[in-house]
Amino acid sequence: MTNDQVLYLKDCYLKEWETKVKSVSKGKFIVLKNTAFYPKSGGQPWDTGKITKDDEEYKVVYVGKFGGNISHEVDKPGLKPGDKVKCKIDWERRYTLMKMHTAAHVLSRVMYNESGATTSGNKLGVDRSRIDFALDDFDKEKIKQNIEKTNQIIAKKLSVEKKFMSKEQAMKLEGFAGPSPHLMKEFDRLRVVIIKGFDSQPCGGTHLDNIEEIGAIEFIKASNKGKNNRRVYYKLKNEN
Ligand SMILES: [Zn+2]
Repeated sequence: MTNDQVLYLKDCYLKEWETKVKSVSKGKFIVLKNTAFYPKSGGQPWDTGKITKDDEEYKVVYVGKFGGNISHEVDKPGLKPGDKVKCKIDWERRYTLMKMHTAAHVLSRVMYNESGATTSGNKLGVDRSRIDFALDDFDKEKIKQNIEKTNQIIAKKLSVEKKFMSKEQAMKLEGFAGPSPHLMKEFDRLRVVIIKGFDSQPCGGTHLDNIEEIGAIEFIKASNKGKNNRRVYYKLKNEN
């Protein structure tokens, strides 16, 4: 699929659209001409939702990347190549994941700026998310302070841009290539997520337009899985 067919790359707030079924495998694995369903990747879980043909609804239960395509697993067979369909994302789940993911970028940058920690992994979720940091000192109090610092940054209401650019252009961005640049090898150009004046990193995930939409985050716990995996768990405040 080309970037143009992957609708969430340009518009992370697209919830409903019309398209056609491109191919069907084993009755339940659907490739669409255009899709905004996010496939499991980069630590962000897949979107759920539904694909509707005429009055028949097919629940989207899993979305993954297979052989350069985004494949949607539906709950029952029936869709055929060429079918005109309406798609709808389960927005509450997706929007929560957008908050979690954008918070992860802010927290990663704070951990880098304040403690020199680089991000070694992450697993985002609806109820809680975790980030692994490579960090010499495992100091829980300092980590808690960094969560508070993250909330102070969120309160600054910085806008978030998503831009395609060459690697050379990206390298020139202020604050680029700090915490864990997970390069998007499958795309011809880099998609860079820029939190204005604060952080920029290559990322193919779905992000908010402004960090204020996160609200605030809350420290849950930190566990020590070794020097390269100081594991920090957080959740959204006033949610769940
Ligand atoms: Zn991201």
